[in-house]
Amino acid sequence: MKISSMIFISIVAFLCSGTAKFTNKNIKDHSKSNEKYELRGLDEYQFNYNDETDAENFRKVDILHYDLFFDLHTDKKMFYASAEIKGIVKDRKSETIDLNFYDNFEIESVTLNGTKADYTNKGENFSVKLNEPVIDTFLLKIDYSGTPEKAGFVGFDFGEYKGTSLVYNLSEPNYASSWFPCNDSPSDKALLDMRIENDSSQVSVSNGILLNVIDNNTRRIYHWKTIYPISTYLIAIYSSNYSHFSDTYISLNKQDTMSIDYYVLPKDLENAKLDFKQHPDMIRFFSETFGEYPFIKEKYGVAEFLWQLGAMEHQTITGLASNMIGGKNYFLDVLVHELAHHWWGDAVGPKYWKDIWLNEGFATYSEALFYEFRSGKSALKSTMLNKKQRNFRGSLENPGNFLFTSTVYDKGAWVLHMLRWELGDKTFLEILRKYYEKYKYSNASTEDFENVCESVSGKDLTKFFNQWIKGVGDIELKYSWIVKNKSSGKFGVNINLHQVQREYDEYHFPLEIALKFKNGKTEVHKIEVNNKSMEVSFNSSDKPVDVILDPNDWLLMYAEKE
Ligand SMILES: [Zn+2]
Repeated sequence: MKISSMIFISIVAFLCSGTAKFTNKNIKDHSKSNEKYELRGLDEYQFNYNDETDAENFRKVDILHYDLFFDLHTDKKMFYASAEIKGIVKDRKSETIDLNFYDNFEIESVTLNGTKADYTNKGENFSVKLNEPVIDTFLLKIDYSGTPEKAGFVGFDFGEYKGTSLVYNLSEPNYASSWFPCNDSPSDKALLDMRIENDSSQVSVSNGILLNVIDNNTRRIYHWKTIYPISTYLIAIYSSNYSHFSDTYISLNKQDTMSIDYYVLPKDLENAKLDFKQHPDMIRFFSETFGEYPFIKEKYGVAEFLWQLGAMEHQTITGLASNMIGGKNYFLDVLVHELAHHWWGDAVGPKYWKDIWLNEGFATYSEALFYEFRSGKSALKSTMLNKKQRNFRGSLENPGNFLFTSTVYDKGAWVLHMLRWELGDKTFLEILRKYYEKYKYSNASTEDFENVCESVSGKDLTKFFNQWIKGVGDIELKYSWIVKNKSSGKFGVNINLHQVQREYDEYHFPLEIALKFKNGKTEVHKIEVNNKSMEVSFNSSDKPVDVILDPNDWLLMYAEKE
């Protein structure tokens, strides 16, 4: 998910409108200030989730396949739906199959393996009684109808744009259960068949590949199929009078020609063609950098939706705010970010929601990698400096209820930048490739990532992960320097470094120190900072006129001369 800072005023409007399912606190009137970056990750929003309950439930039940059918009636803003859920009861002692499903629907029938089942549906829980132990797999079928209630940023919306219906959803983190029964936790990935029926004036879009479109008098059914495992929060529906256009990407080994499909409102068609045309190059770059695009046998796609704050990386079909299509590429960073999520978040999913930085920090750093690829080191540097700020709060290890903060996005990206600085480009890229290869189509935790970092680099990275992932804050350094004439005609430079940050006692990091000379030349030295206070000295043949710490901006550090 990405929220763009360029539309912060509309974010303020949105924040002030408030929503039912999550809370906002201390919303300031940002329109009067220049604090736009503070809102970049929707810092004020809290989400309720429970990783322990999710983990406990995943020990008991594993969903293998969702076969979902939505018969959309946009005039009444409701659907008739059917969910066939195939799964395994892993805990043979279980007396129930416990799923998530909001209780505001009319449930017509619930069957388990073809027999009418006893169930309860209360709040956000849906529990089916097991009258006898389930051997092998179960097939649960739930027929229901109604209008989903707003959940989180959106949930499921029968939206309208100037009188045109546009149905879409945004379920992250755990709001898929506001529109279909599921095990709504990111670890329980499953396969998916999605059939969407509309009034035949609409184009209905979902994850994976389009198997067929069946016309039946005034109704039309689109059948989409996902052959790669998908988390519930990445399952998507879009339905509107979309214009469709496409492009192609050829896999690195030249074996697959993959379609890139775009669905936009007719008014945005020409602008979208301009905005979206870099996708084949972007997919190629990330494939070459991380490993082949994970859903190569399906597609990549973008569909315009009405959540105006940003975009969402629904697997193989990113949702993009309609106000981000303008023909001028203003939101290229958003397109890059959502595409990168297909490696980080979609293919390699988070094991728990507390691991969200593995999605957002990685997708955010991928933006910097893409700009570096396109425009060189200065673009890497400027992209990272844009993401540098002093009010990161909390730890990346556990962001609590604040899932989509600038800490998660931007500090997450900075941690990867510093990991690269610590280990070197080659090892860093090897780590990303190994991590992707090992966990694609599955889920990983921060610990899993740390283990890959250590095994690839052969280094003990406990200190690095302690200070940057578990720790809070950034490096604050006071420094001073003096030049001494030496008898040999050389100059000695003594530099005193003292860490003064309050949140974390002592950071260890490689530091570049640049000595600047009168003739404009610089001399760069690299040292290992492994003490709270240090004195280092260098000899030089010329007299330094200035000393610059971290001249290439590799560190989340603020240095001040004493
Ligand atoms: Zn994101």
